[in-house]
Amino acid sequence: MSTVPLGQWLAHRPRRGATVDTVVLHATGVDDCDSCLCELREKGLSYHYLIDRDGIVHKCVPYSAVAFHAGNSYGPHEQSRGTPADQDSHHNFVEMTSVNEYSVGVCFVNRDDGLDCVTQEQFDACVAVLQDLRTGLPKLRYVTTHAIVSPGRVTDPCAIDPESVARRVGLEVWRP
Ligand SMILES: [Zn+2]
Repeated sequence: MSTVPLGQWLAHRPRRGATVDTVVLHATGVDDCDSCLCELREKGLSYHYLIDRDGIVHKCVPYSAVAFHAGNSYGPHEQSRGTPADQDSHHNFVEMTSVNEYSVGVCFVNRDDGLDCVTQEQFDACVAVLQDLRTGLPKLRYVTTHAIVSPGRVTDPCAIDPESVARRVGLEVWRP
């Protein structure tokens, strides 16, 4: 795996002590890495890892910090706390929940239009990233997607089956 740390991290904040046990997969929705990074910097958003089509992994935020990748979202910690999963008419959870505190965001450069495929190089790089994360984060347990934790609001990454990734690295897919 070829990993390139950004010269300047994307937006992040310190974690507040929650156990990091979840990986959220994303797709950029745009065609290339540079325009994605530009847009993220403008909006103050971030992923921990951005995987380009050739399998090059851009490390954008250290996983010890919270990245701003999933926004309003509902994941395993909300479910185990019994937080209500009611959504408003814009598909936002009314409890204003977010999985960012306890997750790592991994994003594929992919248009997420139902036609653009994730490359084999991207898939292999994602597996390598998750294997590395398991070493650094021994409590890591779940793989999920942005579409699963923010249903109705986003579709990404529609080009990848989270089961195929989870199976390769010995993690389980989280769905509500
Ligand atoms: Zn996303």
